[in-house]
Formats: sequence, C-alpha cells, structure tokens
Amino acid sequence: MNPSFASIATVRSVVAVLIGAIFLIGLPVGRPSAAEEAAGEAEAGLQLNASERDWLATRPDVRLGDDFLWPPFAFMDEKGVYGGISSGYVASVSKRLGITIRPVPGLTWAQVLEKLKRGEIDMLPAVVRSKQREAFLNFTKPYITFPVVIASHRDGFFISGLTDLAGHKAGVVKGYITHELLEKDHPDIKLVLFDSLTAGLNALESRAIDAFIDNLGAVTYEARRLRLANVKIAASTSYKFELSMAVRKDWPELVSLLDKSLEAMSSQEKSAIENTWLAVEVHFGVDVKTILLWVMPTGLSATLVIVVVVVWNRRLNHEIAVRKQTEAQLVAANRQLAEQARQLETANTELKQFAYAASHDLRAPLRVVTNYLGLIVKRLGPSLDEDTREFVGFAVDGAKRMDAMIVGLLEYSRTGHTGNPFVPTPLADVVQESLDNLQVSIQEAGAVVEVAKGLPSVAGDRSELVRLFQNLIGNAVKFRVSGRTTKVTVDWRDAGSEWVAWIHDNGIGIDPKDVECIFQVFKRLVSVDQYEGSGIGLAVCKKIIERHGGRIWVESVPGEGSTFLIAFPKTESIGVEATDHNQRPPGNSP
Ligand code: ADP
Repeated sequence: MNPSFASIATVRSVVAVLIGAIFLIGLPVGRPSAAEEAAGEAEAGLQLNASERDWLATRPDVRLGDDFLWPPFAFMDEKGVYGGISSGYVASVSKRLGITIRPVPGLTWAQVLEKLKRGEIDMLPAVVRSKQREAFLNFTKPYITFPVVIASHRDGFFISGLTDLAGHKAGVVKGYITHELLEKDHPDIKLVLFDSLTAGLNALESRAIDAFIDNLGAVTYEARRLRLANVKIAASTSYKFELSMAVRKDWPELVSLLDKSLEAMSSQEKSAIENTWLAVEVHFGVDVKTILLWVMPTGLSATLVIVVVVVWNRRLNHEIAVRKQTEAQLVAANRQLAEQARQLETANTELKQFAYAASHDLRAPLRVVTNYLGLIVKRLGPSLDEDTREFVGFAVDGAKRMDAMIVGLLEYSRTGHTGNPFVPTPLADVVQESLDNLQVSIQEAGAVVEVAKGLPSVAGDRSELVRLFQNLIGNAVKFRVSGRTTKVTVDWRDAGSEWVAWIHDNGIGIDPKDVECIFQVFKRLVSVDQYEGSGIGLAVCKKIIERHGGRIWVESVPGEGSTFLIAFPKTESIGVEATDHNQRPPGNSP
C-alpha cells in the first residue's frame, strides 16, 4: 500500500472510527439538523450575549476560504473533502454553534485573500495573525502552535538559523505568514515563492532552492508523504505558527462565538484531532481489517511526529544551554586575561622603577669605596708591600667594573624612555654619526669601515638608532683578531615588507650555540682581561630594535667573523632616499 496525498480521501471515515464517537461526524462541514442545533448549543453550554444570539439567529452560511493545500492543517482530498487539523476544529465549532461552514475550494491563497477583502469569503480556518492581515480580518485566540523550521537538502551546507541563509535561495509559500515575516525581517535571504508547500518541498528535493521554510508539522508531514529522501529539518527559527481562525471584519460576533466554542473544547477533544491529523495516511471507505492495519502505523506515525517535535525541542534547549555556558566561560576568561595584563603592567612598571633607582643609588657608595681605596694607597703608598698594593688594585678594578655594570644597567633601563617621537630617519646619517662617535677606537684598531650607499630611511628615534649602530659597529671593531686587518662593512637590502641592514666583521666570531644568549643582559663570551665591556650592549640593541617593531639576529663563523642583522618594518610614508638599490645585482647579501 502506497498512501498518497490523492488517497487521503479516506480521512473522514478513519476519523470517524478513531474519534468519531466523541465528535467530528461528517465532513465537509455541513449545517447540522435542527435537533442537532439545539443539542449543539445546549451541549456546548456557551454563555452567549444578545448580539451573538442575534447574529446566530440569522444563521448565515459561512464561506470558508483556504487554498486547501496545506497538510496537515487544511487540505482537500481527491474527492473534495476538506481535511486536516483545522477541519476538526471547524467541525467542532460548527456543531457547537449550529451553523454551516462551507469550504470554498479551488482558490489559490492570494485569491482567497482577495475574495475576503471583497466580502466573498467569510472566514479562514487556520492563519497566523499579522499586522497586515489585521487590516481586513478579526482573529480568534490561537488554537494550535507549531515552531517554524528550516528544511534543507540532506547534504547541503550547514545551517544553524535564518542568518545562515543570507544570500541563499529559500522557498516559502506565497502570501503565507513566512513570506511576510521573512521579507520584513530577513531581506538578505533570496526568497523564492511557491504556490504550495508541495511545490516548494519538491523544488528543495531537486536542489532548485537551498532551503524551504514553513512550520514543523507541515514540513515533516509533507516531506514524509511525498517520500522526499533528500529533505531534512536543518534548524529551527524564532518564529512560531500560532494558528487562529479569522473572520471578515464586519462579523465581529462570529469571532467571539468562535472563541467561546474553541474555549469550550476539552483538551482530549483537541489532542484527538491533532493526533489524528498529524498521522493522516489512510484510505477512505476501507474495511475494518484495512482500518485495523492502518491504526498501528497511524498511531506510530503520530508518535513519531510528536517524538520529532519533543526531541527537536530538547536538542535546541541543550544547544542553547551549551552556548550560554560557553559564552559565560569566555567572558570569565576575558576578565581574567584583562586582570593578568593589568597586574603584569603594574609589575613591569615597578620593576623598571626599581632597576633605575637601584642602579642610580648604588653608584654613590661604590664611588666612596673607590675613592677611599685611592686615598689609602696615597697615604700608605710607600709603606705598602707589593702584594697589598696588588690586592688594593684588584679591589679598585672590581669596583670600577661594578660601576661600569651599573652604568650599563642604567642605560638599559633608560632605553625606550627618551620620549622622542618616531620620525623618518635616514640610516645613512645614523651610521655616519655612530662612526664619528667611534672615530678614536676605529683609528686605534686601524680598522677599515665600508658603508654601502643608499641606506634606507626608517621610522624611528634617531638617538636610539645611533646607539644601536654604535654598539654593533663598536663590537665589530672591538672583537677583532690581533694581527689581522679589521674590516667592517655596513650594508642593507630590501626584504619586501622589511628593510634589513647588517654589520659584518672579520673578527673572532661567535660559537653557533651562543648566538641567542648574547642578547641577554650581562652575557659575555669573553673575559674582561681580553676584551673590556659589561655585557649590556647587545641587550640594549635588542630592546631598541624591538621598540622600533623590528628584529635582530646574528650569523657567524667562529674565527672568521660575524654578521649582525637588523630588520626594520617598512612604513608607508617612509621610503628609500636617493637609492639605486633595486638595480643592484643580487648576491653578497645575507
Ligand atoms: P660587551 O661588548 O660589553 O661584552 P655586548 O652585549 O655588546 O657586551 O656583547 C655580548 C657578548 O657578545 C660579547 O661579550 C661577545 O662575547 C659577543 N659579541 C658581541 N659582538 C661580537 C662580535 N662582533 N664578534 C664576536 N663576538 C661578539
């Protein structure tokens, strides 16, 4: 047996079998007999007011409009019998009020709305209230609610909500509330309008659209009925279908009558209607055996739809809870990070102040030690033996070295605090000033220093840049090999996003294992007896270049020489000054 929409013709008898004893005997909804009318009103026990009674007294036939293409809410079977959840409610209120509510078939939804405005249709069985519709309709209180969901292709892209559909093709039924809401709230979704839910879901199955949006009940029912293998429910939306009955504006009495009738319905009556129509896949006129055969799957299907709704809701709730928890954790982590950053900043400032104060104040007692040692030697000079004189010499040397180290520390802690703004600074001028400052030591060493042409300009603090180059060129001259003519080269290259300059020497070189540590404060690879110094120079260089947003590193071959490289970031406003650099042949550059 292959139940199809066309075969839903059968609904009436199954409904009758399942719940007919309680209510719903006879669709399409027809005018009940006089006896039924009386019984209906009496049974209903509705408290009617005068105008409602007057209206009922006229007993007009109510023309019920819909496209009847909206299972499981409102549809026509192949025999033209009105079915769906709304039909159960309509039948119930019609019976209670003793009026005839007659479906007008064969209209599209747009035509139904047109006819309503012209007074040719009186009532809609199941619609969502909206501002637009309120202009020409009065609504009852909602009598059934379903979440609006996004159906997508089984292997389509990931959709977690309506915002993921921006720029994608999503189908809705023309004139349905989904059409109105999405057009207003999500103009970035490319809406594709269909005349019916079936047409829309078929288009989704064949990938003509990326998603289809309607309420969960309708989509699951129809996708199952059409046996669409590639359609799945991808996500929920914040919209709900709260379905009411709606009546033409000039019949307000009918709205209150309907509300009273709907209110009078018991919850068993309501759930019996919903369970029946959510699972409607049965044949009309079948025998008891067939009906029994169908009762099981029908019940199962109803349970399935309910389970889908419940599971779906649970999953959503769980996801929301997880998301909320993650958000809370992120906020807490951010707060902690901000607090740690603040504590680090405070510690750093305190440390800087401490280093400066300590190094500054330590020099005074040290000077006392050196001066008084000098005085002792002067006073006792002739009477001192050779050993004592040597010991005092060691003590003075130590004090002097300590003073040099303190001066170095002071220099280090002051680095980066000149307060000078960064300005375009030609490195050619910087190197020249460094060489001028180093003139004496270069001459003493008999060193030959070559500076390449066209050094670029960088954004920087000129006095600090002079210190940087002076330290590096000074080291290149200082760490020379005796007996070898000292040659120092200052050169540069364009490295794309950076300018790289370097100072190359043919001095003692550095063991590769030490190339990292020499940039630490007080780190020296040689003894003071061989090469004087305090081990601060390179630490200062590193601090200066990093403050300029650059890097420093060294390449060296022990015994042959070293190359200290410094990279400056390029800034847009600062370029090369007077350079023929780009025409230079490659090679010879680190
Ligand atoms: P200082 O020059 O006062 O010793 P630096 O911080 O400038 O301190 O240098 C640290 C150490 O790195 C030096 O003691 C030396 O061992 C090594 N060094 C620095 N520059 C060179 C160089 N051009 N050639 C060889 N070794 C070097």
